[in-house]
Amino acid sequence: MSTFTLLFLFMLMVSIGLRLWLSFRQIEHVRRHRNKVPGSFTDKISLDEHQKAADYTVTKTRFGRWPLIYDAALLLAWTLGGGLQWLDQSVISMQFGPIVTGIIVILTFMLISSILELPFSIYSTFVIEEKFGFNRTTAITFIIDMFKGAALGLLLGLPLLFAILWLMGQMGDMWWIYTWILLSGFSLLMMWIYPIWIAPLFNKFEPLEDGETLNRIKALLERCGFSSKGVFVIDGSKRSSHGNAYFSGFGRNKRIVFYDTLLKMLNDDELEAVLAHELGHFKKKHIFKTILISFSTTFVGLAVLAWLMKNEWFYHSLGISTPSTYMALLLFAMISPVFTFVLSPIMSLFSRKNEFEADAFAAEQTDAQHLVKALVDLYRENASTLTPDPVYSAFYDSHPPAPVRIAHLNSHA
Ligand SMILES: [Zn+2]
Repeated sequence: MSTFTLLFLFMLMVSIGLRLWLSFRQIEHVRRHRNKVPGSFTDKISLDEHQKAADYTVTKTRFGRWPLIYDAALLLAWTLGGGLQWLDQSVISMQFGPIVTGIIVILTFMLISSILELPFSIYSTFVIEEKFGFNRTTAITFIIDMFKGAALGLLLGLPLLFAILWLMGQMGDMWWIYTWILLSGFSLLMMWIYPIWIAPLFNKFEPLEDGETLNRIKALLERCGFSSKGVFVIDGSKRSSHGNAYFSGFGRNKRIVFYDTLLKMLNDDELEAVLAHELGHFKKKHIFKTILISFSTTFVGLAVLAWLMKNEWFYHSLGISTPSTYMALLLFAMISPVFTFVLSPIMSLFSRKNEFEADAFAAEQTDAQHLVKALVDLYRENASTLTPDPVYSAFYDSHPPAPVRIAHLNSHA
């Protein structure tokens, strides 16, 4: 066995072991706090609601271990188990050109993988979400979403994949710089067209009706000097009763989007506070910084890939006999999460810092207590646990744990 095979197996064990350990910690921690609502929430969340959140969290976390083990087994079967090698050799024997061969191999791999993953998303939507009363998706919506997603993926992904494989084959040692420019441009383009063309394929967008709510929102936008292409409501209730709000697009193409479920959960004061928080992300340049980080990560990733693909041991140690550009790309995409999971607390830390800043912004623009009330309503309605394990949370949560976040907001009140 080569050194790289051993390193890969070791890192796979570390990341699976770490994830399982985190999931045990989370379940244990949530269970231990199940019988008592944390101090600062006693007058806002009932014991029943707190216990529902605990049970929901435990159920999801426990279920999450199955795909974890299953995915690791699949990764091994594809690589060292010879799955990809078999697929690759079968397609090579059809004697297409290198790009077409690559596209067939990658698409076949993606098709098989998504079929193998399907049972988990079906179970999570129609069993877990259903059991806790959140699911609104019908079988028909689920199937239509799946096909629309696949069609859209092909329409956008295929030309991109073709271009990347072409650059990898034709541009010599500098291919990864060109690919980086292409990928960065592509993701900016996606951000630009997502609100106008893509999101409306999945949801109905309607302008927020005139009235007190809209007036409050407009006044806030004006106060913060924020221009947008309108405030919209989407039918999130078609799929789930979880509530949400987001911004999309950039430049002059920004849209503010509220889920209809959120409008039902919150009153005008609370909605204004939630929007002020989201505006905070813009005003504090979080969106811009996030894009910058993502571009730099891609840059480093591609540089590593460019180096790896020149070494035959990279392919051989992952069960592939014939080196090729597409196989380097595919192997790299498959195994990099195994090596990067240990770094996830760094990203969470960055994200939490942003959340605190956006909360502080909201506290300046509106009343911190309105945001506290909105958050408590959201924790309750979404059955989010108030007592996550701190270590688990450091790896997985982009937002600070509820008590920490509320305490921070109260300090601004
Ligand atoms: Zn936020």
